[in-house]
Amino acid sequence: MYMDHAATTFIKPEVVETMLPFLKEHFGNPSSLYSIGREGKEAVETAREKLAKALGARPEEIYFTSGGTESDNWAVKGTAFARRKKGKHIITTPIEHHAVLYPCEYLETQGFDVTYLPVDEYGLVDPAELEAAIREDTILISVMYANNEIGTIEPVSEIGKVAREHGIPFHTDAVQAIGNIPLDLSGKERDVDMLSLSSHKFYGPKGIGALYIRDGIEIDNYMHGGAQEREKRAGTENVAGIMGMGKAIELATANIEGHNEKIRKMRDRLRAGILEIPECRLNGHPEKRLSGNLNFSFEYIEGESLLLMLDQMGICSSTGSACSSGSLGPSHVLSAIGVPPEIAQGSLRLTLGDANTEEDINYVLEVLPEIVGKLRAISPFYKPASVCEK
Ligand SMILES: *Cc1c(COP(=O)(O)O)cnc(C)c1O
Repeated sequence: MYMDHAATTFIKPEVVETMLPFLKEHFGNPSSLYSIGREGKEAVETAREKLAKALGARPEEIYFTSGGTESDNWAVKGTAFARRKKGKHIITTPIEHHAVLYPCEYLETQGFDVTYLPVDEYGLVDPAELEAAIREDTILISVMYANNEIGTIEPVSEIGKVAREHGIPFHTDAVQAIGNIPLDLSGKERDVDMLSLSSHKFYGPKGIGALYIRDGIEIDNYMHGGAQEREKRAGTENVAGIMGMGKAIELATANIEGHNEKIRKMRDRLRAGILEIPECRLNGHPEKRLSGNLNFSFEYIEGESLLLMLDQMGICSSTGSACSSGSLGPSHVLSAIGVPPEIAQGSLRLTLGDANTEEDINYVLEVLPEIVGKLRAISPFYKPASVCEK
C-alpha cells in the first residue's frame, strides 16, 4: 500500500511505452547528423513542446536537467554567480528542499549573504515581509511552490509580483506542484523567472527533470561541455527519459481538477479518521495544502518506530522527508513552523496519489490507531490524557 507519493511515484504504463523505442531501436545521439540521431533530436524537441505547453511557456525556455536537485542547484548557484557584480544577497525560506538550502549554504561560504525568511505556523511566507527583506544588493529570491513535507502551498503569484516590482529574478521549486496545481507561466505565474520540476514526482521516470528559464534571465552554465540545450546545459540528452517526462506531464496536467477531487476526498476522510486518535496534530495549513498531503505529529512516539510498524503491515509512509531520513534529528521544516523537537520526532507523512483507493484508506484507519496505541503503551513518557487530568 503506497502512501509516499511525495517521495516518488510509480511510472505510468503509457509513459514506459513512450520510452521503450528510445531504449531500443532509436538509440542515436541527438547531436549526430544521420537519421537515427535526427530521430532522437526530433523526439527531444517534441517533448520540450509538451512541457512548454503544460506550463504556458515557450519551448526555448525549457532546459532538460537530471532532475529537481540539479534544476534547483542550477537556478540558485547559476543566478548567484552570474549576478554577483550587482550584489550578493539572496532571499529564501527555511522550509525549502535541501536542493535549494544546501546550495544557499554553500554560497554563504563563497561570500554571499542569505536571508532565510521566517514562515508562520503553517509554513506560509508573507509577501509583505518578503518585500521588507529586499535590499539594494538582493540578486535572487527563491521560494518553493508547495512544500514536500507539510504540503503548504505558497502565495507564489504575490511573491512574484513583489520580485518583479523590484526587478529581482524569482525562482520557485515547483517539483511538488506539477500535476497538483495548474500552472501558467504566461498567466498567473507570469512573474516567475525560473521554475524547477522533476519527472519522478508526476508518474514519470527518475533522473530527468527540467528548469524553466524565462527569456532574458542572466544565469551561468552549471554543466560545461558540449553544445546541448542551446549551449546552456552540456551533456548528451537522456532521450528516453525526456520522452517519458513529456508523456508524463501531458497525462499529469490533462485533468488536474478531476485528479485533485478524487485524491482530496480520500485524503479528507483519512485526515478526519486519524485526527480522532488522541494527542495528534496536523502539521501544515488546513486548506492551503496539496490535495494528497497529510502530515501528523503523535505525541510520545518515535516516527521511525511508527514507520517500521506500518511497513510491517504493508504500508509505505514517511517521517520527515525521505531525503533527510538518513539523518537523525527533527525535520527542518517542522522546526521552522515551530513544532517542538520532541513532538516533531513523532511525525508521519502520508502522501496519496494515483496508487491509492478508498480501501487503502479503510485499511490505514483500521491499523494506525492500534499501532499508535501499542507504541504509546511501551513509551515511558505516555500518560493518557484522561489520567493526567485527574
Ligand atoms: C523531490 C524533490 C526535489 C528533488 O528532485 P529529484 O529529482 O529527486 O532530485 C526537489 N524539491 C522538491 C520540493 C522535491 O520534492
